[in-house]
Amino acid sequence: MSELKLNSPLQYVKGVGPKKAEFLQTLGFQTVNDILFFFPRSYLDRTSVTDIAKLSPDTYVTIIGKVKSHGLLYGRKKRYEVILEDATGAITLTWFHGIRYWEKLFKKNQIFACSGLVGSYFGMQMVHPDMERLEDESDTMIHSGRIIPVYPQTAELSKAGLNSKMMRRITTYIFENLTENIKDFLPKKVIHSTKLLSLNNSLKTIHYPENREEVEQSRRRLSFNELLDFQFMVFMRKKRKNRITKKHSYTPNKKLFSDFKKNLPFELTSGQEKALHEIIADLQNESPMSRMLQGDVGCGKTVVAVLAALFAAHSKLQTAFMAPTEILAEQHYRNWNSVLNEFGITSRLLTSSQKTADKKKTIELCQKGEIDILFGTHALIYDSVVFKKLGFVIIDEQHRFGVEQRSRLYAKGDNPDLLVMTATPIPRTLTLTLYGDLDISTIDSLPSGRQPIQTVWRAGDVRDKVYKYVLDDVQKGGQSYIVYPLIEKSEMVQLENVEDAYKRLTASTFKDISVGMVHGKIKPKVRDEIIQNFFDGSIDVLMATTVIEVGLDNPNATIMVIEHAERFGLAQLHQLRGRIGRGSKKSTLVAIAHPPLTEIATKRLEYFTSTTDGFKISEADLELRGPGELFGLRQSGELRFQNVRLGDDKDLLETSRKLLEYLFQNENKLDSDYKKLHSYLVKNVNKELIELGGA
Ligand code: ADP
Ligand code: MG
Repeated sequence: MSELKLNSPLQYVKGVGPKKAEFLQTLGFQTVNDILFFFPRSYLDRTSVTDIAKLSPDTYVTIIGKVKSHGLLYGRKKRYEVILEDATGAITLTWFHGIRYWEKLFKKNQIFACSGLVGSYFGMQMVHPDMERLEDESDTMIHSGRIIPVYPQTAELSKAGLNSKMMRRITTYIFENLTENIKDFLPKKVIHSTKLLSLNNSLKTIHYPENREEVEQSRRRLSFNELLDFQFMVFMRKKRKNRITKKHSYTPNKKLFSDFKKNLPFELTSGQEKALHEIIADLQNESPMSRMLQGDVGCGKTVVAVLAALFAAHSKLQTAFMAPTEILAEQHYRNWNSVLNEFGITSRLLTSSQKTADKKKTIELCQKGEIDILFGTHALIYDSVVFKKLGFVIIDEQHRFGVEQRSRLYAKGDNPDLLVMTATPIPRTLTLTLYGDLDISTIDSLPSGRQPIQTVWRAGDVRDKVYKYVLDDVQKGGQSYIVYPLIEKSEMVQLENVEDAYKRLTASTFKDISVGMVHGKIKPKVRDEIIQNFFDGSIDVLMATTVIEVGLDNPNATIMVIEHAERFGLAQLHQLRGRIGRGSKKSTLVAIAHPPLTEIATKRLEYFTSTTDGFKISEADLELRGPGELFGLRQSGELRFQNVRLGDDKDLLETSRKLLEYLFQNENKLDSDYKKLHSYLVKNVNKELIELGGA
């Protein structure tokens, strides 16, 4: 084999061959380039290895040990377990998926390095760790003090023979035989001013680092690439949208708003008025609105959205109002249906758990254009749901939906206006990056008359005292939420769960009061009834999982207890807290944490109790979080970053955005260095743009 190029098919790489190459192709690896962009997930070196005896839960560690035993177990869930031991102790490694593959992998006394998150379940445990068999090659590497890359491993990849060792062999071969230089698309000026590695060097070092600093340097360069790609896509989306002229229009009517507002039990805050004003103005523009309405939990976003939907209805346009949970969709519908009716506006609710006949009726009416505002859950996305004239799409708690789900709803109209809402305030730097294609309206104050929520956290053995406090309050007419991290006993972690706690407490402390339980496995219909009972006061204490996290609005509930608060992220704790403090009575939140607490969990709880300002919380969340998991953005498919660490890379965020602004503002007079970057981005990002569609 002589000429190895970046776009050479993998079969020409020594050790791969045609057969393996064919299989790798089905996994998305076609060329040399694809392999170079398949990055290690972690690195092993002697200094990063922890003794098994010293492990503590919730930490991410690497251990090295010998297989003591291995086998298949049938519990509540079939699983494969390996007991790995070193000189100090033993740990259980568990796999729930790909069992057939793992089963064949292990032999007694083999030595493995293994990295993952430590959990505890009848002793220390790691679920689905990354494994690396240590023998000759890697063993010597480790002893020679080198740091060795460990690649993400799945049963599929392993079937293709693409384990870490193979990857190391392939990348070595590639770097030795590549006749082509990996060209950098970044202008020299930019590389110089940012002090980032060249693409060539970053790719080399990420696969072959000498030390940790090199890993970090290449990560930063690759992070910059991802940020550029992502933001370029966002810029393009915005540009494309601004070029569209929509076919529908709105008919202004001042009296409509003032009449509707007169009917409300409160006056809009100045923040709400301002946001409404921005939205109404935007709706009357020629190109479709793409706007995000942001504001802290409880600031009153819903009423603003409903007023905008009223405007659409008045203009003979239909509105789709999508919320992430049945509870929330139903609450919106219940709160607004009759008020809207008084104004001659028809609204209906569509969720998947409704009776088929009801759903059919709704879908029929919607198609005929006889529904003005359709509230609903993901059910709105179904193909069977057709609008006669969808002019306006509202997405509540937008980060709960995937990009694709949002696009599908959007596509039901002909360039409709879009309003997305989010209750988790997002740090400004991030808003600009992630939502640069959206205009932002911010409601920056809470309705007046709200009492600040007192928040405390307690560690350890305080449960009885706290539950007694809840009981005392109920006896004075109060209502409480108690939140648990789990529905039922888990195979993975030993945590208090809502089902066991419910059984125990309703037989003891809470035996004389009315207690309800809701979680994700309770049928939506039953769940809604329980929540309704909680709203009308016939249930005193609602024991729940985080299904209550978004939107629920019961002003009489003034106490919230969060069990295992150390398990929740800062933004999530803040969201949960938003369920109380909604009325005029003073509210209290008690976060119970169960040791051992990691340093970061302690910091989180300290911070959580120190402020109720959502924007401050979101900034702190960004600092404290590990890579990428911010506000569940990753899970929604919003962020598919591999190398970006939002907390650490703020400078890169800023620099990449400025660079793109420059590109877009000077599109016609770029010098050749910048043109190169521009055409690289166009080529690279076009594919994704097509995938993501309109919204
Ligand atoms: P969020 O912004 O978190 O979605 P909601 O729209 O659910 O908040 O509003 C929270 C609560 O505040 C609701 O009970 C709502 O009726 C009430 N509310 C909204 N605006 C005002 C206001 N201007 N004054 C008093 N209460 C308000
Ligand atoms: Mg809301």
